[in-house]
Amino acid sequence: MSKPLIQLQEITFKYHSDDEEEALKDVSLSIYPGEWVALIGHNGSGKSTLAKTINGLIQPSEGKIFVKGELLTETNIWSMRQLIGMVFQNPDNQFVGSTVEDDVAFGLENHGVPREEMVFRVEDALERVRMLDFRTKEPSRLSGGQKQRVAIAGVVALRPDVIILDESTSMLDPEGRLEVIDTIQKIKEESNLTVISITHDIDEAAFASRVLVMEQGRLVKEGTPEEIFSAGEALIQQGLDMPFPEKLKVALKKKGIPVPNEYLTEEGLVDFLWTSDLKK
Ligand code: ADP
Ligand code: MG
Repeated sequence: MSKPLIQLQEITFKYHSDDEEEALKDVSLSIYPGEWVALIGHNGSGKSTLAKTINGLIQPSEGKIFVKGELLTETNIWSMRQLIGMVFQNPDNQFVGSTVEDDVAFGLENHGVPREEMVFRVEDALERVRMLDFRTKEPSRLSGGQKQRVAIAGVVALRPDVIILDESTSMLDPEGRLEVIDTIQKIKEESNLTVISITHDIDEAAFASRVLVMEQGRLVKEGTPEEIFSAGEALIQQGLDMPFPEKLKVALKKKGIPVPNEYLTEEGLVDFLWTSDLKK
């Protein structure tokens, strides 16, 4: 197995020293190159705090973080942060430029990328998110999905190894969500990007190769989407929203209808319903 890209060792964090509860408690995890990891859990379970810890916005009270095998310290934090890009929830809070291309250029300017290289990277990033035609447009005039694609371009232009999506699709309509997820998938394939996606949308988590579940600041479970989602009723008890096909399976089971145990996509479920005799 390849070496971890990111490694957290027993991370603990409190926002204020007099807080009773830690926002993160003894969290250890490894993220490997090219993985797509979904991070799920209740509101307030510590997902955003964990994300900010990973990209160095927050320094843990205890524990160690390694990025590419190198210990994260106060002196290397700025260069390490470039390796890990973040896209946040609200598309409207992420713009600093008056045009789409200015906005994407901003982060590069901040990192002192030379002008010629900058022009090239802005164009390349906008092309990758299919927003090149909008380069001179005002960000405020775009749809939610387009705004998030521009935010992704801003991160991609910095050539990170990891992109963290912190509920980046939660304010979008289904079409916008799909746009964003398709975009990330495409970029991931092209450039072996590692993706950490924080989401309440478990259909989105199904894209992951590994799902991590957080509860009250702790990492409580991990597995493939199939393993995590087939714990159907237990998931409800954890207060997580189950994917629609799983909800329907639980409801059918309660009515005494035999349903397959494995995780089904919506299509898979339609096939099952279509071919089975449910009338009795
Ligand atoms: P999630 O992203 O899973 O909803 P957060 O990481 O935002 O959870 O929050 C974890 C805990 O830390 C919660 O109890 C929350 O109230 C607290 N918290 C989050 N941000 C701050 C902050 N800036 N100052 C103080 N407490 C915070
Ligand atoms: Mg959050």
